[in-house]
Amino acid sequence: MQASLPDLPPTDVLIIGAGLAGLTAALSLPTTLRVVLLSKGPLSECASAWAQGGIAAVLDADDSLDAHVQDTLNAGAGHCRPEAVRTILAQAPDAMDWLCAHGVPFTRHADGRLHLTREGGHGQRRIAHAADRTGSAVHSALLQACRQRPQLTPVENATALELLTAADGRCTGALVQHAGRLLRWPAQHTVMASGGLGQLYSHTTNPEGSSGDGVAMAWRAGCVVEDLEFLQFHPTALHINGRSVGLVTEALRGEGALLRLPNGQRFMPAYDERAELAPRDIVARAIATEMARHGLGHVLLDITHRPRAWLEEHFPGVSALCAAHGLDLATQAIPVAPCMHYACGGVRAEVDGSTGVMGLSAIGEVACTGLHGANRLASNSLLECVVMGRAAGACLADAVPSKSLMPAPSAPSALSEPLPAQDHGATLAALRQLMQNQVGLVRQGHNLEQALAQIGSWRAALPDHSPCALPLRNRLDTAWLITNAALRRGTSLGAHARSDAPLNAQSLFAR
Ligand SMILES: Cc1cc2nc3c(=O)[nH]c(=O)nc-3n(C[C@H](O)[C@H](O)[C@H](O)COP(=O)(O)OP(=O)(O)OC[C@H]3O[C@@H](n4cnc5c(N)ncnc54)[C@H](O)[C@@H]3O)c2cc1C
Repeated sequence: MQASLPDLPPTDVLIIGAGLAGLTAALSLPTTLRVVLLSKGPLSECASAWAQGGIAAVLDADDSLDAHVQDTLNAGAGHCRPEAVRTILAQAPDAMDWLCAHGVPFTRHADGRLHLTREGGHGQRRIAHAADRTGSAVHSALLQACRQRPQLTPVENATALELLTAADGRCTGALVQHAGRLLRWPAQHTVMASGGLGQLYSHTTNPEGSSGDGVAMAWRAGCVVEDLEFLQFHPTALHINGRSVGLVTEALRGEGALLRLPNGQRFMPAYDERAELAPRDIVARAIATEMARHGLGHVLLDITHRPRAWLEEHFPGVSALCAAHGLDLATQAIPVAPCMHYACGGVRAEVDGSTGVMGLSAIGEVACTGLHGANRLASNSLLECVVMGRAAGACLADAVPSKSLMPAPSAPSALSEPLPAQDHGATLAALRQLMQNQVGLVRQGHNLEQALAQIGSWRAALPDHSPCALPLRNRLDTAWLITNAALRRGTSLGAHARSDAPLNAQSLFAR
């Protein structure tokens, strides 16, 4: 079937994903290159636009690169690639200057200095932010800049299903589903910027498009994937009627919010001396332990010691989220529980996105540079998107010959017959539940073995060469890779907790 598909006019650079990583790369390429930017859903729907807390950067005279590096290495549980950590964090001030130059309205003091907040695992105030809507402020400023570029064509509701490869292994573009049809989009260079994989779980902070497609596609195209067992569960998603309805930023705890049991008692000091500001994995597992111990569906997060006006000024997004669910942040402790949030691992890549497969880069959350190690330090991921996107753009400026005299690519018009609709709903729901229950916050060997066998049997039942099966195949392949990685790592480390093999130094499940 693929041989008879129509080719769209080739483009110079095809970017799969229009989050912060994809937009930054697009804006960092020479304006002479023709660039196509795919978004699986609407352009505004991505994790980047949903980020609340902010971007970590050393911007204060009392702070230092060494301190930021050390906090990152500590959170990463000794599993980071130290050279990648230092390279990325050293570029944070430049990355912030670049974002400010694009007009991002960061929150500032009256004298014009950036206001810095603090998050778990950071020894200093070093989180630049735009109130608690940082992601939306950054994403919309960059999207506006992209729209000014005549050679750049954003295409919404276009899902890459498979990477195209030549006989020598080079990536030559992607097979794309758009408006229910299938087409080949050839490119001199392809950038995978498809974000995270939270939608493989039934409780997640991630948007609909974050289903791990990029990991599966890149893996089948020959990339190495690594550290996929290290999935970060955010400790505090707002939990209403047994469902996660949105993230409650860690900055709330940075500003003094306390975790309590329903009787008002605090529990974090018994788990870690940093209490509510311990790294996320410790806080998430402490909450899960307390929920299990007391048979609770959630615990409470309390910032009622702050005045309403202050909360509305600093946390308008969380205040509005709570209000939408009938909760008043200023007078009530709110119900929170952990849920799947961030993939520390992914497609192995250098800081400039190089993957080892010619013609293919990977940047942003889909990539694994080793910055996060076994557990991400809060607010290092938006930073990584900007640093990688800029580095990838600069690298491709040299590597991709410009076809500047050709017109900008148009949105797809030459299309194949409609792709027959396939209903994979039941398998997808079962997959998400399986991942939540058996490959979740705390894992056990026999559960992982069962999950791997179940995912394996779903994969085996898929038809071999049918493009209709590719959306499901991508999710199953990524779920299989995560589960296999979790099974193979028989000891607990960072965000990967095995109750059948607790941490060497201390059990996180004992008080
Ligand atoms: C609620 C929330 C809050 C967060 N807060 C913070 C924070 O304060 N600070 C911080 O540093 N990090 C935060 N994070 C993490 C951070 O937002 C993400 O790691 C980062 O935005 C990832 O950016 P990205 O460009 O790699 O992916 P995304 O922004 O998720 O963009 C992925 C893009 O790829 C597209 N895509 C996916 N699959 C396909 C496909 N098959 N074909 C075509 N397109 C595809 C999507 O449509 C989307 O356009 C938060 C995450 C969430 C979910």
